[in-house]
Amino acid sequence: MLDQYEGQVGGVDHQSCTINIKSGQQKLLEADTILHEAVHVLDEIFQLNLTERHVYCLTGGIIALLRDNPEFVRYLQDAIANPRTV
Ligand SMILES: [Zn+2]
Repeated sequence: MLDQYEGQVGGVDHQSCTINIKSGQQKLLEADTILHEAVHVLDEIFQLNLTERHVYCLTGGIIALLRDNPEFVRYLQDAIANPRTV
């Protein structure tokens, strides 16, 4: 399935709305790959015209933000699972 992404660890099939990743990656790199491809999808949906460098830097920055701030991750999980009604 990844033949179309020769030399890459992941890719987006816009036709089937699917993110494909290479199996057997180290867990953190796999998460980075999935997020990287998701940012590509958002770029496409919102027509942001991001460069590969933009996607790479955003992905690395978001992973670092989440790794460095586990309380923020828990906050986000709670906010998403239990939206507050004001
Ligand atoms: Zn990319």
